[in-house]
Amino acid sequence: MKQRHYAIISILLLAGCAQGGSGEGQLKAVTPVDFSLVKIQDEFWSPRLDKHKSTTLKVCIDQIENKTGRIRNFENAAKGEGEHSGIFFDDSDVYKALEGMAYSLINHPDPELEAKCDEWIDKFAAAQQPDGYINTYYTLTGLDKRWTDMNKHEMYCAGHMTEAAVAYYKATGKRKFLDVAIRMADHMMSVFGPGKRDWVPGHEEIELALVKLYQVTGEKKYLDFSNWLLNERGHGLGSHGDGRKWDPLYYQDEMPVTQMTDIAGHAVRAMYLYCGMADVASYTHDQGFMGALNCLWDDVVLRNMYITGGIGQSAHNEGFTEDCSLPNLTAYCETCASVGMVLWNWRMNQMTGDSKYVDVLERSMYNGALAGISLAGDRFFYVNPLASNGDHHRQEWYGCACCPSQICRFLPSIGNYIYGISGDAVWVNLYIGSEADVEKGFTLTQETRYPWEGDVKITVGGKLKKALKLRVPGWCKEYSISVNGEKAEPAMDKGYAVLDRKWKDGDVIELSMNMPVEVIAADPRVKEDEGLRAIQRGPLVYCMEEADNLEGFDELNISPSAAFEATFQPDLLCGVETIKAVNGDQVLNFIPYYAWDNRTAGKMKVWIPYSE
Ligand SMILES: [Zn+2]
Repeated sequence: MKQRHYAIISILLLAGCAQGGSGEGQLKAVTPVDFSLVKIQDEFWSPRLDKHKSTTLKVCIDQIENKTGRIRNFENAAKGEGEHSGIFFDDSDVYKALEGMAYSLINHPDPELEAKCDEWIDKFAAAQQPDGYINTYYTLTGLDKRWTDMNKHEMYCAGHMTEAAVAYYKATGKRKFLDVAIRMADHMMSVFGPGKRDWVPGHEEIELALVKLYQVTGEKKYLDFSNWLLNERGHGLGSHGDGRKWDPLYYQDEMPVTQMTDIAGHAVRAMYLYCGMADVASYTHDQGFMGALNCLWDDVVLRNMYITGGIGQSAHNEGFTEDCSLPNLTAYCETCASVGMVLWNWRMNQMTGDSKYVDVLERSMYNGALAGISLAGDRFFYVNPLASNGDHHRQEWYGCACCPSQICRFLPSIGNYIYGISGDAVWVNLYIGSEADVEKGFTLTQETRYPWEGDVKITVGGKLKKALKLRVPGWCKEYSISVNGEKAEPAMDKGYAVLDRKWKDGDVIELSMNMPVEVIAADPRVKEDEGLRAIQRGPLVYCMEEADNLEGFDELNISPSAAFEATFQPDLLCGVETIKAVNGDQVLNFIPYYAWDNRTAGKMKVWIPYSE
């Protein structure tokens, strides 16, 4: 097979300040079709969603109720006695797991699971203080100390609670949890805000959650509070409250958010901050926020992102170091940061209608984030390096369990990322087998073996006079499109093929994407990847594992004359397309990166020695 060489990090022009202008309403080029309207029936994703329901949820519930003290903390807080066990932000894992349970209920109603949610929600409500405050750590260690240390994650936990409460309200229509969240939000606004106390949340999350609360209640005060919190940053207000040095770089507090151009500090915090900025800017049309987000996106994607879509190189700060310094063995790439990239890029796509954001979303989703969970659905990576000496493995849970609970809420909501709708178009962003009610009386049914094959068939149900915009993925160099068997020559708009016509029942659109094995060189500024190449096919990044390469793992290399062959192996790793490379007398075997560490422990690497 002919090899292709191109730099993974393409040069994109600085986008500068975004569009918009003043005006009413939400600034959105495209509104996602909510996953409650999307039924996934897909060879690749359906087994993963089944395992989420059958295994991952049970693992999370068992850890939260039995193996750790997370639920007991709420029970103790309700009684006002007993110890707090675990870390001061452990409440957030319970909320994130419940958010995942709520999303699962939307996909598959389940009275037993709903009863479990109600049981937990009763415990949350009982642990809420009369003034609305809820946080088991301070309730059990001294309420007199609450709201003194900006890095004690009180607003972070409140944010995750709010997201979970909104999710559960949408899933069931039950208000109890939503009312708990509203009381906490109102409590926070009684203490902090213009003319009241200043506050810089040490771990962002509340900002995006308040926008969700605004959307579900229609109360603009929550949007305004989120905007106020974002603008608190960068004025020297951050503090631990006890004289300990506050690290403004780590907390994204070194300058006002509108002046930020370079990503720095803790990766997950940064992602949640950017999500909050995008959410608020979509309503306020804040040019400062939009300009900063454009600059930050370039800095992340062009200078600080691994080929897996993972970000945050370093363990020392769970975050960023120098531009273009991307070590592989010690790559931190927290699972939560990859999910954060999905969340942020989704929002950037909604505001701009540009497919380059979905390219990154897809890269992080199929590689960096998906590697975070075992094929059996019961073990989790916190750290996702691009090479291993055989000593890095998924675990059942973590003391800091942000990543397992993150995966728990991420997987059942992936239907959010597939379709979008705007005034003049229906958008198809991801190729996942599914049936979607994209608009009243108009459905799309998608059939595909993506990411294993590049053929997609979309069947129209109903009538609609709108363009259909099909994303042509950034990895795709050759494709063809036909409508009802006739070749189409659509115009391109920001990475989308635009098919503008009157759609009628039974119309069939076929997209055929050539999906060759690609040999990829890193940006030459990345010294760690000098003389190395990575293998990618479609959206999937591949790796070499010792299990498939027992002889001479360290010596195997590829060259320009290497020949590649992709083969689907239904019985391997729950069914994967493997890639075999023959380079002279060497044979190298590759599997998708997300599937590594599901067999015998051994070495792994993404970047392979390359000789001209
Ligand atoms: Zn995490």
